[in-house]
Amino acid sequence: ETAQAGNRDSEALATLQRVFGYDAFRGEQEAIVEHVIAGGDAVVLMPTGGGKSLCYQIPSLVRPGMGIVVSPLIALMQDQVDALRALGVRAGFMNSTQDFDERRVTEAEFLAGELDLLYLAPERLRLDSTLDLLSRGKVSLFAIDEAHCVSQWGHDFRPDYLALSLLGERWPDVPRLALTATATDATHREITERLHMPAARHFVASFDRPNIQYRVVPKSDPKKQLLSFLREEHSGDAGIVYCLSRNSVEKTAEFLSRNGVEAVPYHAGLDAGTRAAHQSRFLREEGLVVVATIAFGMGIDKPDVRFVAHLDLPKSVEGYYQETGRAGRDGLPSTAWMTYGLNDVIQQRKLIQSGEGDEAFRRRAQSHLDAMLALCETAQCRRSQLLAYFGQDPDRTGCGNCDTCLTPPETWDGTVAAQKVLSAVVRLKRERGQKFGAGQIIDILLGKRTAKVIQFDHDQLSVFGIGEELTEGEWRGVARQLLAQGLLAVEGEYGTLVLTETSGEVLRREREVPLRKEPKKPAGARAAGGG
Ligand code: ADP
Ligand code: ZN
Repeated sequence: ETAQAGNRDSEALATLQRVFGYDAFRGEQEAIVEHVIAGGDAVVLMPTGGGKSLCYQIPSLVRPGMGIVVSPLIALMQDQVDALRALGVRAGFMNSTQDFDERRVTEAEFLAGELDLLYLAPERLRLDSTLDLLSRGKVSLFAIDEAHCVSQWGHDFRPDYLALSLLGERWPDVPRLALTATATDATHREITERLHMPAARHFVASFDRPNIQYRVVPKSDPKKQLLSFLREEHSGDAGIVYCLSRNSVEKTAEFLSRNGVEAVPYHAGLDAGTRAAHQSRFLREEGLVVVATIAFGMGIDKPDVRFVAHLDLPKSVEGYYQETGRAGRDGLPSTAWMTYGLNDVIQQRKLIQSGEGDEAFRRRAQSHLDAMLALCETAQCRRSQLLAYFGQDPDRTGCGNCDTCLTPPETWDGTVAAQKVLSAVVRLKRERGQKFGAGQIIDILLGKRTAKVIQFDHDQLSVFGIGEELTEGEWRGVARQLLAQGLLAVEGEYGTLVLTETSGEVLRREREVPLRKEPKKPAGARAAGGG
């Protein structure tokens, strides 16, 4: 038995090397692969990019029969299958994007035992015709990807996933793996219960990336801030700079190149040849910076990416984690650096409101953004907050390797300042029937007689000039934090400011508003870097 297991092990490793061209398993992969090859069920929690696919692909190749992969990501199936075929793996898929003939071909391949892996949409596995088909061939394992879709309380609930519990009854001898990147305890329990996998072994990878230093700095002049960050701490290093728009990608890449940092742009608007050339230069060369939209990075496995910089706010913590996770795969010190300001909040809120999708979609986008804002505005350890978001027990003492740990932010009682901002919004609405954006509100508080202030007679308002104790930058910080705390909201295509349900509590003095002080200098610069 032991000898046999030993043989199987080496078969797994040999498959990893021969088919996929990798030297060694990563983290828990080996234990998972071994367990499944031996016929055991497994629940696998691993961050995105952690290498979940190999956990079922290798056992599918080693065990006799065909591995069935259930995935809700229909749009990705074709790509996944193409990538596997390019490696010589006999893979196929069945989903609603195929016509009858294409499906027939796949069915015939399956029945003839000519497939190692078959990707299926969950709604297809409910059909009797599919279950009958699977019964007529040999199944080596079931992999249930994105297994958190079974959770009724989660964002991604799919009723079709509930039916997957039947697989264990119908194929009691076929091992099952449930895989997800969502690590909350509740989801974890729900997956195990709803998929009926009481005997499964649980593999929980840590989401912590201790060698990545997380930092968020207030945005003033992002390109210049980026340049000094690179000059002071990462000169000659390879890294990725993420921007929201193609236009700012182009401009930032140009700006860096003009200032002596070798940088190339990458976004979906460039032709395929240019994109491929820039990507392969990034992989091959030592110190190239790629300035990119989030189109860049999927499947890129460069170990010595020393920094990931965000010039714009990511839309979710999941996205932020995934993008910053491309830094420091070799385990050496790396930096996740971001500039973030009032306009980011306003712009993202506007995008959500004017964007496509129904009310439920908007609400979900909003809650994703809120979690991201909370991470930006936290006065606690950023790593702890990040890990807590993914449901992992944070280290209560702080990590010692993020900006808030290195330079704990000062807080101040911003109640009065908050009341001033909110009063200005209220006055404009009540006395004039008007709504304005943050810029005008701040000009009014500062008592600035700008052309726009004069035009609207805003110097006649009682709130005109009541905020001269703070600078413009500080007022922007106040507005930004009020937005992040949900005490102020953004409305319409012009991003005008409006009150929220909780604003009244502040105006009525029922609620205090603790705020972070805006640091004068970017926080957390490593002492070693400056010498
Ligand atoms: P996940 O599904 O967990 O998000 P993937 O399975 O897509 O992650 O893997 C992420 C990346 O890591 C892929 O580019 C994959 O090829 C690579 N990878 C996974 N395992 C290994 C390994 N043992 N050695 C080298 N690269 C790996
Ligand atoms: Zn920390």
